[in-house]
Amino acid sequence: MPLEEYKRKRKFEQTPEPPPKVETKAGHRFVLQKHDATRLHYDFRLEMEGVLKSWAVPKGPSLDPADKRLAMQVEDHPVSYFDFEGIIPENNYGAGTVMVWDVGTWQPLSPVPVEGKYVPGTEAEAIDMLAKGDLKFRLDGKKLKGDFVIIKMKGRRPGSKGNEWLLIKKHDDYEVEGYDIDAYDESVLSKRSLAEIAGDAGSAEWKSRPSSGRGKLKAAWLADAVAKLDKKNAAKNLTAKATAKKKQKK
Ligand code: MN
Repeated sequence: MPLEEYKRKRKFEQTPEPPPKVETKAGHRFVLQKHDATRLHYDFRLEMEGVLKSWAVPKGPSLDPADKRLAMQVEDHPVSYFDFEGIIPENNYGAGTVMVWDVGTWQPLSPVPVEGKYVPGTEAEAIDMLAKGDLKFRLDGKKLKGDFVIIKMKGRRPGSKGNEWLLIKKHDDYEVEGYDIDAYDESVLSKRSLAEIAGDAGSAEWKSRPSSGRGKLKAAWLADAVAKLDKKNAAKNLTAKATAKKKQKK
């Protein structure tokens, strides 16, 4: 069953994370989330076969082809996770703050280069490359762009779970020597820093676009936080309207 592990690890009456629903529409979005859990890391997710194929990348991706970044494959996530930003409450799996660091689309690259250049590939090639542990793809995000490869490590080290991959930037116009991902601590959705997300009661809500429905909120503390935010926003809107009217009169 797809998303079975995702479901088993979470208590949906407590976490604001989205439910384990498999998407039927084909899409090619990607997200990189910055996750301040037990240990700070980045989560890289590619939309594929109705779910988000996911890797936890301790140091985050790099735009420098010289960097080989360890990426531990984790359980598939539901596609709606791609714009999840907020706080996973204590005593829950992955407890901590989540920032949407980058979003965009991706396309598979054909495993066979044409005249030394990588060219767009097919969905079937992507599925095959993933199964073989050597997936080449092109990212078109706000921050992450260009060609990458994620390769499964073959040699098993003692204590290894066999889920270790390496995420590597290919040489192209988007490479940046000495790239330092930690220098860019800003959400691509809300422009907030990780600390701002962590300290903002409003971030307890699951920010899902374009849906405005909040009927999915189950935890009481969460509902409280969202109610407060709604009040604050309503007050802000009134003030903005009043100001606009005054301006019109002038
Ligand atoms: Mn994570």
